[in-house]
Amino acid sequence: MIIRIGHLYPDMLNLYGDRGNIIALTQRMNARGIEVQTDRITMGKSFNADDYDILFIGGGQDFEQDVLLDDLKKGKDLQINKAIHNGTVFLAICGGYQMLGKYYKTYDGKMLEYMGALDFYTEGREERMIGNYAFKTKEGIEVVGFENHSGRTHLGSDVEPLGKMIKGYGNNGEDGTEGVRYKNTFGTYSHGPILPKNAKFADLLISKAVENKYGTAKLEPLDDTLEHKAQKQIMKLYIK
Ligand code: GLN
Repeated sequence: MIIRIGHLYPDMLNLYGDRGNIIALTQRMNARGIEVQTDRITMGKSFNADDYDILFIGGGQDFEQDVLLDDLKKGKDLQINKAIHNGTVFLAICGGYQMLGKYYKTYDGKMLEYMGALDFYTEGREERMIGNYAFKTKEGIEVVGFENHSGRTHLGSDVEPLGKMIKGYGNNGEDGTEGVRYKNTFGTYSHGPILPKNAKFADLLISKAVENKYGTAKLEPLDDTLEHKAQKQIMKLYIK
């Protein structure tokens, strides 16, 4: 088995070690005998979404999101759109998550029109939402993470939230939702990075990618004693 990962803008969008998500995916697949090949899709590089089983985009600051916009609109936006609607597994973090929506209006009034692949928009405010936080997915997976964003995201009716807040701000600090979920696309504000901290969530993505490609996915369990201990400790210290 081989799973191909496309890492979008790895040099521009990589806050708080977002790249650790690629490492976690790779390790957890390799441990099960699944080969992983990762391509770095940088600015100016052509990109065909059909080449990938998993797409990943990290977070950045308003500045990087603005700089990338031209490149995104030269065709990567159409490929990303296609992948999302075809059900490719896609993990998008914070600034990268915002880029899948309709627009992001920065706190100082700059309008960044995005691809509108998913039904949501984001508006920034001067006061940032920062801290360790946690949410629960519809499968009951408790996810811990770290958020730092000025953008408030508001979901439309065509998408569902990735989770319900346990503690922290999430999408907008008001409606108790965190992230977005549509087919196999998962958008979240969680830096940290999210997957090494949340083994069950990492396996959810892996199983969906393997199932997409090979029809079924029965992942061998791994020894996650340390991962679960670390997650429990984070919960104890910062969340509950
Ligand atoms: N620029 C976005 C915001 O501040 C995203 C920040 C991030 O990726 N951490 O809302």
